[in-house]
Amino acid sequence: MLIYKKAKDFISYLHKNRSLSKSIGFVPTMGALHAGHTSLIKKAKLENDISICSIFINPSQFNQKTDFEKYPITTDKDIEILCSVNCDVLYLPSVEDIYPNGWESNSKIDIGYLATKWEGKFRPGHFDGVVQIVNLFLELIQPNKLYLGQKDFQQCAVIKKLINIQKYPIVVDICETIREADGLAMSSRNARLNSADRQVALCLYNTLCFIKNNFQVKSNETLVEEAKTFFIGNNHVKLEYICIVDRDSLEELSSTKENAVALVVAWIGEVRLIDNMLLN
Ligand code: AMP
Repeated sequence: MLIYKKAKDFISYLHKNRSLSKSIGFVPTMGALHAGHTSLIKKAKLENDISICSIFINPSQFNQKTDFEKYPITTDKDIEILCSVNCDVLYLPSVEDIYPNGWESNSKIDIGYLATKWEGKFRPGHFDGVVQIVNLFLELIQPNKLYLGQKDFQQCAVIKKLINIQKYPIVVDICETIREADGLAMSSRNARLNSADRQVALCLYNTLCFIKNNFQVKSNETLVEEAKTFFIGNNHVKLEYICIVDRDSLEELSSTKENAVALVVAWIGEVRLIDNMLLN
């Protein structure tokens, strides 16, 4: 696997391969890789001439300094994992390379309301940072296909909107959420859960299954109210939001059952976990 840390070397590699008409599949990550990430990389590898993974913990998308500081860094292990799935290229830039003049200086792309609802409301500025870094990477790499995980449902919607606004000729592939055997969605943040909290964290998946299993027999409003009870009675759990929304607009669905997805976010101890489930 080739590893590029500097944009200059990476650009000449990209130029060479573009001139040879090689197709590029790109998987942006923040590292601490797990089977969720490798599922995307394997797909990128299978469907393109070149698979590129980036690892960059983007400071501009963290609205809490402690979350950024505590984000797990496992670069050596990540490189091993990427080699084991035959990833072709790792782009591993430093913060200074990406933002030589600081990240506040970059101009913003306005994604509209999709960036201010749900995650955008609870993590102000988060999607500005996501849009900033993804746009930068897409301009640089110009992939044919971009692979994203459904686990970050709203992020997928925001990035699709960005691609639409910028008119990039990029196909977006939203890949299924990979889960642990008991259902917990794989996440780099799971590494920060102690063993008791790891058990407690299952309440996100259990709630989503409850909603899905009862989706046709109860109203959306009742389901959301009943789902909230899964988060009561344990002071290590704090529900941030749970909702049933339209998959495209992310508007809350009061009565409609079409095109629905349930979104949930909860704090387990000091770790913020996110999950979702398509309901039909
Ligand atoms: P992250 O490193 O958390 O920024 O994630 C990088 C990419 O991997 C994003 O597109 C995520 O949605 C995706 N991803 C993270 N966890 C999972 C998972 N459990 N299953 C599938 N994709 C995932």
